[in-house]
Amino acid sequence: MANLANAPFWQVKSLSEMTASEWESLCDGCGKCCLHKLIDEDDPAETVHYTNVACRLLDCQTGRCSDYRQRFKSVPECVVIRPENVAELDYLPDSCAYRRLANGRSLPSWHPLRHNGSQEPMQAAGMSVAGRVVSETEAQVTTAAIVTWPLADCD
Ligand code: SF4
Repeated sequence: MANLANAPFWQVKSLSEMTASEWESLCDGCGKCCLHKLIDEDDPAETVHYTNVACRLLDCQTGRCSDYRQRFKSVPECVVIRPENVAELDYLPDSCAYRRLANGRSLPSWHPLRHNGSQEPMQAAGMSVAGRVVSETEAQVTTAAIVTWPLADCD
């Protein structure tokens, strides 16, 4: 029988049982959710297509929100991910920890929580948007901006 006494919180708690800090720590910082997406109105499957155009608050070089705490003042449409809504947010990438745990998966080998908070393995795995995207203040969200690399989801 497995000894769960020393197991990390994400293996023993449900999403709704996590503390606020545990929940926040699940975000790997990839920045993929900050990219604009397109859905073809004629596609019955409503497939989500990622673009390389990012929210105006995203720092495109670091891949992090430049005003996380105050972001709703300038981007009121930014969505707060919660245990209650994560199952509905089907535009989150498969690599996203919230989506993975909601789907019964575990955290990937490169997740910062498996590396004392370091994002280097996440970046080395090609998960970060840093340096790969442009701001919506400088580019149009068109089909020409569609990219497939945000769909990558190893292990
Ligand atoms: S896609 Fe998920 S893990 Fe990546 S930045 Fe957004 S919330 Fe965090």
